[in-house]
Amino acid sequence: MPDFLCDLRRTLAETSSELLARLYEEADRTRCVHVGDEVHLRGLIEISNMCGRQCGYCGLRAPHRKLTRYRMTLEEIVSCARQAEALGYGTVVLQAGETPAISAPWMARVVREIKAATPLAVTLSLGERTRGDLELWRRAGADRYLLRFETSDPGLYARIHPGPSDRIAVLRTLRELGYEVGSGVMVGIPGQTYEMLARDLELFRELDLDMIGIGPYLPHLETPLGRGEWSQPAPEGEQVPATEEMTYKTVAMARLLCPEANIPSTTALATINTRNGRELGLMRGANVVMPNLTPSGYRRHYEIYPNKACIAETPADCNGCLLGRITRIGRVAGRGQGGWRSAAAREPVYV
Ligand code: SAH
Repeated sequence: MPDFLCDLRRTLAETSSELLARLYEEADRTRCVHVGDEVHLRGLIEISNMCGRQCGYCGLRAPHRKLTRYRMTLEEIVSCARQAEALGYGTVVLQAGETPAISAPWMARVVREIKAATPLAVTLSLGERTRGDLELWRRAGADRYLLRFETSDPGLYARIHPGPSDRIAVLRTLRELGYEVGSGVMVGIPGQTYEMLARDLELFRELDLDMIGIGPYLPHLETPLGRGEWSQPAPEGEQVPATEEMTYKTVAMARLLCPEANIPSTTALATINTRNGRELGLMRGANVVMPNLTPSGYRRHYEIYPNKACIAETPADCNGCLLGRITRIGRVAGRGQGGWRSAAAREPVYV
């Protein structure tokens, strides 16, 4: 078996279909040994698309004035959480733009009410917040937090994510506060080189992440990056392509480097291959999916990127579709909260 980890950059740039087939096989085997055959379902609730940031890649950015903005009410969010429980999920993920419209005390109340009404794990994904806010939410019962560092390259990050920002520091704070910590990157950001992506993978391991989200970068024409502005071309032959295959390679490598992490097969991946992108992600290292529970009236306004997969589906449709995809590839839907190592912890793992 070739050592895919001895030169990360080289594996990421690999094009031999034979070698890639072996990489995917090894990632799938590692996934099976360390986190098992269960696929955990995390009900995603996109609680608000308001955002004060100007990220060059994201359709929720503040200057995108054509977007109709919303914030769900506490009652609506709790009702979605109850639906998650009814559908058998163990976790809800509350995601939004980074906005003062989500005040710390209001959010703490939302978390408390969900924890009181359901047995669900609560994951937050609300951008960079102060230590005080994060601590308040942790005390209110929040279990996990997702904050992608997007790219580990400081120059590229500064170009695509203007304004003061230190996501690595926030990730460390989250760890100190006892959250399960998730991060991740986009694959194929204009200007992203293989070397940078290799460094991203090393950073996953250094941060000892519990969850790792990896999706292809998808251009949104209402953003500067999507219009071809703001980017500095990578040297000839060094640009990471924003393709399906590149995403699988990165997911597979993340699995080999962080064998016990929870890794979703993302909606962005399902968007570039609506037929079976979701399944192929699960067969090449991933062990989590995030069915969308956002009420459809709001869902179409949560336009991070265009043509998002599953946009028209109801939560029940989305659930049925994903369960079908999971069972057809011989896997099983996870039960319980599916926190870090929980699947592996039931039985000792001998490697
Ligand atoms: N405001 C929160 C949630 C953002 S949306 C935060 O910043 O963490 C969640 C993720 O969607 C982002 O972290 C980013 O990696 C991804 N995303 C945003 N725009 C995208 C695009 N154009 N293509 C692909 N992924 C995108």
